[in-house]
Amino acid sequence: MRIATFRAGSRRRVGLLSADGKTIRPFDLGADAEERGALAVIERGLRADSPSLGASIPTAGLAFEAPIPRPRRNIFCVGKNYYEHAHEFAKSGFDSSAASGAVPESPIVFTKVPECVIAPGAAIEIDPAASSAIDYEAELAVVIGKGGRGIRKADALKHVWGCTIVNDVTARDLQAKYKQWDIGKSQDTFCPMGPVLVSSDELDIANIDLKCWVNGELRQNANTSLLIFDVPTLIETISAGITLYPGDIIATGTPVGVGIGFNPPKYLKAGDTVKIELSGIGMLENPVRLRGSAVEPRQVAEARA
Ligand code: MG
Repeated sequence: MRIATFRAGSRRRVGLLSADGKTIRPFDLGADAEERGALAVIERGLRADSPSLGASIPTAGLAFEAPIPRPRRNIFCVGKNYYEHAHEFAKSGFDSSAASGAVPESPIVFTKVPECVIAPGAAIEIDPAASSAIDYEAELAVVIGKGGRGIRKADALKHVWGCTIVNDVTARDLQAKYKQWDIGKSQDTFCPMGPVLVSSDELDIANIDLKCWVNGELRQNANTSLLIFDVPTLIETISAGITLYPGDIIATGTPVGVGIGFNPPKYLKAGDTVKIELSGIGMLENPVRLRGSAVEPRQVAEARA
């Protein structure tokens, strides 16, 4: 099943998308639950045959939001989880962890605060007073369905509800300056997400094509089969001592082709557009603008297969 969160007037709704993405059937959960987007569907274990599903409405012109617009806690993220990206990052001069080797021996896990999540089509904001080195990172994000602690690799995929797209936007100068990455990763607007959350039964998580364009130029082109630490390993690692809950999000890392991989670096600038496509999931597109500028974010989100 493919679900998405959207705005209908002043109300937030979450619904089940049709196979062609042209219509959506909102779940009738009450305004308080619907305000939590897909989190409410995941926690209640609702499926495509739920009696709470209403009538179909066209998706054309709908304003999509992130599937989980405000995660209930920080998003787990994984650094340097593709070989070629680990090498490009180590060579860039921004990798404060490079002394321990380009390729990590165990997953590098950091987090982004929930408040930096933004909708498809919303603007990634550049604040020159905070950072002048802002970069994109296209990533597969897995969303936990069934929580647990001490989850073993062999059982890990049973705990995954599904997948969506995340852009792990990063201030490289802050990432390098503060060693620990949270400040550089959690700046306001630095987590575009969505628009679609696809259940894991419709995906082969270990074989998803991932592409990222900036202003139409293809920058990243990889497949999740190239992950250094695969999704089961990440779930086993994190859950070893941290209980995972339904709705927890794990951004699995970005492949080669980020802005600092180029010489000179290709940082994001106002007026750019970042578009990310993951096979079987969809397309996430966000404009870039200066913080405080009057330009309204374009509503580019469409639930496309
Ligand atoms: Mg990342």
